[in-house]
Amino acid sequence: MPASSRKRIVLLGATGSIGENALRVIAAHPDKLELVGIAAHSRHARLAEIARAHPGVHHVALFDDAAYADAKTSEAFPTGITLYRGLEGLNFLARLPEADTVLVAVVGTTGLEPAITALAAGKNLALASKEILVLAGKFIMAAARASGAKILPVDSEHNAVFQCIQGHPLADVSRIILTASGGAFRDWPVEKLAHVTVVDALKHPNWSMGPKITVDSATLANKGLELIEAQCLFGLRADQCHTVIHPQSIVHALVEFTDGAMLAQLCPPSMTFPIQHALLHPARAAGVDAPLDLTKLLSLEFRPVNEARFPLLRLAREAMNAGGSAPAIYNAANEIAVAAFLAGKIPFLAIPLIVDNTLQTHTSFEPADLAAVLAVDAEARRIASSQF
Ligand code: NAD
Ligand code: MG
Repeated sequence: MPASSRKRIVLLGATGSIGENALRVIAAHPDKLELVGIAAHSRHARLAEIARAHPGVHHVALFDDAAYADAKTSEAFPTGITLYRGLEGLNFLARLPEADTVLVAVVGTTGLEPAITALAAGKNLALASKEILVLAGKFIMAAARASGAKILPVDSEHNAVFQCIQGHPLADVSRIILTASGGAFRDWPVEKLAHVTVVDALKHPNWSMGPKITVDSATLANKGLELIEAQCLFGLRADQCHTVIHPQSIVHALVEFTDGAMLAQLCPPSMTFPIQHALLHPARAAGVDAPLDLTKLLSLEFRPVNEARFPLLRLAREAMNAGGSAPAIYNAANEIAVAAFLAGKIPFLAIPLIVDNTLQTHTSFEPADLAAVLAVDAEARRIASSQF
């Protein structure tokens, strides 16, 4: 394939867990993918290494001012690189004229404006940052509809649903089922949960991921966020979105059609599979990691989720049913509570309490525009932070 027909990729969140997996995918397909821009919060030395390994990179953004200032004086970046800073820097990369696809893999909600900027500029959005769909899904989907740009889900369950529903009218889908590993504490007795430490919560049985999503997996807030993400991405009703515990993390989602038939997507628990699918879509190529080996013993178990054990899943469902601004409150309160837990300021079981209390203070309404959503987000963060 000539160099000009390669897909040119901007990667926001290049130093994170998704970012590093995306770099493996891009490096494995030099004939199909070219990295042209990268951004991260502050790890400029790692960004410089990435830029040296990918000569197509000419644009690098750092969110953090001090890191940007250090990077400016650093000799580590190859020549021909322009450095940008802050949210404006991320937005500049998101609309980079030479880019085809922007992969947003920034933890939390900082990626919202860059995602909308990318879609408005007609770039395809490979989307890992589920929090932004929970915060402002309606506006992200509207930006995609307005420009005709595609949203390609990177979250493994949503990528699985996306693959299973290709070629099927939405009216034929009766429900979708997202699988959940059950997280770090799926087999712990409930009474032990009061004593969970940060180290315990960061041990995920199947996936290696960033700290925020690993804690979200332990509380099942991750699955709650994913239900809302799925509803938004695929245009489903809340009662069509379900979860099931599947300890092996091999089936990532199932789609049940009106005739009772189910399609499922299977692959090993490595994010390189959905990332590659999203970046190459609609093409396919050899994967980075080995596929499943069905000559070896493989058992697949499914069991219902006990929502009493995971109050954050129940609260997510309630927020999804309430609609309007409720999911934004849920997401913001959870982000604040998880950051406080990771910083050692609150115990594990305070996370659902803070989210619940914050939701209780709020009457859901339909935000008219993005500014209204951001105001709700800020207010929820203030209320959640006042609880510790
Ligand atoms: P991580 O903590 O490993 O990495 C986060 C990345 O975001 C880093 O590159 C960091 O520099 C960057 N970042 C943070 N704040 C920033 C800011 N203000 N400006 C610019 N960059 C900033 O997180 P992760 O596990 O890679 O997750 C990233 C996103 O992908 C999350 O929204 C998560 O829910 C989603 N996701 C992750 C996985 C996974 O396997 N890790 C799976 C599905 C979805
Ligand atoms: Mg997921």
